[in-house]
Formats: sequence, structure tokens, C-alpha cells
Amino acid sequence: MTGHRAIDQTAVHMAEAIRTGRATSYEITEAHLDRIDAVDGEIKAFLHVDREGALATAAEVDAAIARGEELGPLAGVPIAIKDVVVTKGMPTTAASKILEGWIPPYDATIVERIKTARMPILGKTNMDEFAMGSSTEYSAFGKTLNPWDTGRIPGGSGGGSAAAVAAKMAPLAIGTDTGGSIRQPGAVTGTFGGKPTYGSNSRYGLIAFSSSLDTPGPVSRNALDAALLHEVISGHDPRDSTSIDAPVPQVATAARHGASGDLSGVRLGVVKEFAEGADAAESGVVDAYQSGVDRLVKLGAEIVEVSCPSFKYALPTYYLIAPSEASSNLARYDGVRYGLRSGDDGQRGLEEVMSLTREAGFGPEVKRRIILGTYALSAGYVDAFYGQAQKVRTLIKRDFEAAFDQVDALVSPTTPFIAFKFGERTGDPYQMYLADLYTIPSNLYGGPGVSVPVGLSEGMPVGLQVMGPVLGDDIAYRVAAALESTQETPLADTAPEIGK
Ligand code: GLN
Repeated sequence: MTGHRAIDQTAVHMAEAIRTGRATSYEITEAHLDRIDAVDGEIKAFLHVDREGALATAAEVDAAIARGEELGPLAGVPIAIKDVVVTKGMPTTAASKILEGWIPPYDATIVERIKTARMPILGKTNMDEFAMGSSTEYSAFGKTLNPWDTGRIPGGSGGGSAAAVAAKMAPLAIGTDTGGSIRQPGAVTGTFGGKPTYGSNSRYGLIAFSSSLDTPGPVSRNALDAALLHEVISGHDPRDSTSIDAPVPQVATAARHGASGDLSGVRLGVVKEFAEGADAAESGVVDAYQSGVDRLVKLGAEIVEVSCPSFKYALPTYYLIAPSEASSNLARYDGVRYGLRSGDDGQRGLEEVMSLTREAGFGPEVKRRIILGTYALSAGYVDAFYGQAQKVRTLIKRDFEAAFDQVDALVSPTTPFIAFKFGERTGDPYQMYLADLYTIPSNLYGGPGVSVPVGLSEGMPVGLQVMGPVLGDDIAYRVAAALESTQETPLADTAPEIGK
């Protein structure tokens, strides 16, 4: 998929063209809106498109540039936002019936920052309901299709953001990652997904799933574009009590450094336990990943095997902590405060209306998590389940901290398998949960993880994950950009053309 259409450019090039007057934000934004009109009937990445709002922002940017104003590095570049992030005056549903029709009265901090950066917002993207899932099949509003093969999933929960970027409906998008929802969709759609260090990007205005894990971050077609967006949205926010008050890692500089293709002196760890067990990765995924590791070695990186024995508990630990926190966070959807209300006939009592609302408003995966989480937090069981999971989380954290004493970053396949076919994993929750086997650890220890396209297996994209220590986002970007420098044509540009 090469060409000289506005939508084929990287975000960096679009920004440069806008700044220097070679293109206007209006025409670039309009080209993406037209692309959405042309292909999203098939892909269904968007739940809401704001043509007027996006073009109005674009026109303002063009006027500001004409007046000679100095704008930020992504000014005028359009962006799509996952529907779990609240946007003032624009419908926000988290792909749940329970929030259908809700119009938030405020912007998330990251949305405020996107607006300050003067980026036109194209609309809101589809996802698994409340960000629970790995395929978008759990969206209450229908699934999103993978632009590489429309019989396959685009990943999840942020499948809409990834598919929008893969199909060139948006050069940039926002995702959120609790256990892998930015990185796994990136891997299976041949796009770049970055989960920042927990706490370095404000959660204020994110519809909460698992508060100790949720992290918003960038979706793009390459490391540098993602890095610039990371810098737009990052930084301390007093409205989020877990926000880190520390300087933002210089990820754009690191991505530019990595693009020079020199990794001499960089020590990359491979976690021994990732390759063990019956659930290890598909051989085609391992081959593509290994070819990426070989290229990193050619650039000068040294590969070191490290051991994280507690890794085997990461998936079960996550599936206690995340549902527990979700059960508490989702208690607020009671039919009184937001969105849907069911069975309020004037006769029924409050409790019955709440229960009918939740019965009608939540889908099956969300209910499964609420039940599991409520059980794990209930009196008599909280120490055995939630408490125990928190202790094991500490062990996992220590394992990874010890690994980062030996290496600068860790590499792995992003996900054990390529995009699977629709319906293949909805019958067995565990099969769906396995998609995040390799991405969950960085959510548990809190560090950054990025997924960069590395190659193909069975004609479908494979991602390589780079994990860094807490606040080591820059090293992750450097390694990812170095890997990109070994590809003549970025994988994101080789996707089969859609909508012809
Ligand atoms: N797939 C994982 C889950 O279902 C992770 C989701 C996410 O990162 N939001 O919980």
C-alpha cells in the first residue's frame, strides 16, 4: 500500500507539511474523513465520527499558521480516540449499552492535551466492552474487522484504534492498556502500539477498568509518530492520584536515535520462561520474532537470557486483580447516574431497577468479570484471592526489577498467536485471555511496553514487544525504532489495499 495520497504519509510528515505550508490541516483531515467514509462501512473501526468538529479544528490550525503562530510538533494532524476516553460533548460509551447516549460534560486530561496540541479529533473508536477482551468481539455495537483479513479479529480491546490506523483512516490514535489492549491490537494489525509507564499518562477521564493497571498510550504506524504523541499526552496531572511527578522520558529523541540503527552497548534480555509451557507462541510467530532479534543483534545489541520464575503466575494474578478492581469500578453503573435505565415503571423499587439495568446493560464478558471480582473481594475470600494475587504481583515485580539490573530492556513476541478468526476464542474465556500472556507482565510491574511490527506469519502481521524498566520508556522506543530501521518498507505500508 504505497502511494502519495495524504493518508499514506507518516504523522511526522503530515505535521511538517502543515507547518511549512505544503499542505493544510484541512485537506489532510478531510482526506482521512473521506477515507473513513470509503472504508469504515466495511471495517467498522469507528463508533462515532465528528466530521464538523475535526474540520473546524483543522481550519483553526491553518488560520493560526497563516498568522505565523508557533504550534506544537503534531499540530493539525488528525487523531482517533478509543471510546473509553471521555470527550466533552462527544458520545462516549466504552462500547457498552449501559452508557449508550451518554455525552460527557468534561474532557479527559489526555484529551485536553490533544486539544492544546491542536490535533483535530476524527471520532471515537470501537473496542471490547469496558476494555475487557482481545478481539473487539465483546463490543455491544458489533465487531471491528482486521484490515489485513476481514475474517479475522483486529485485536482488542483497542481493535478500533488499531484498525483505524492500519487502514489509514487515522495516522494516530489513542488506546488504553490494562493487560495488552494497545500492544496486542498493534501486533495483529501491523501497527505500532505503546503502553507507557503506569502513572506517567493521566487516567483522569478514562472510564476505569482496573485502576492499578490502566494506562493510556499511542497507536501509530511507527515509533517516532507514537513517541511524539506520547510526549503530547504525558506528564504529571494532579487530578490523578497515581500520576507520577517526574520528567517525561525523552521518547522522541530516543526514537530518532534508534532510527540511526546503532544499538551497540545495548543489552537486551530474553525471558527464559516466556518460551516454556504448553501455551507458548505459535511457531510462525516465534520465527518472525527471532528474525527481529537477529536484526537487533546485527545492529550491535547483546542478547542475555534472564529468568523470571514468577512469570507463570502473571496471567492468573492479572485475572484476579483486574476483575476485582473492575467489579468495584463498575458498581457506579446503576441506572441512576448515567446512560441506560431498565424497568423503571414507577412500581419497582430502586434495587430491582438497578439489577434490571445491569442485567440489560452489561454484556457476557463484563458480567463474568464482575462476578469473578465480587467473589474474589468478598468477606472470607479476599485474603485467599485478591490479597494473595497482590502478594504474587510483588514477586513478579521483583523478578522483573532483577532482570532490569542485568539488561536495558526485554524483548519478546507481543502475543502468542496471529490474528485469529472471528468466533474462534469466544467459546472459552481462557483461550481469549492467552492473547495477553506476554503483555500482562509490564502492566503488573508498571513499566513501559511497546509493540513494533516485525514480520509476517501466514501473511498476517507479527509484533515484537520491547519492555523497559519503570520510566525507561526511552530505551523501549530506541530499540523499536532501531528494529524499524532494518525494514526497507515499513510493515504498516504493506497491508493489502482496502476499499478499492
Ligand atoms: N485482554 C485483556 C483483558 O481482557 C486486557 C485488556 C486491556 O488491556 N484493556 O482484560
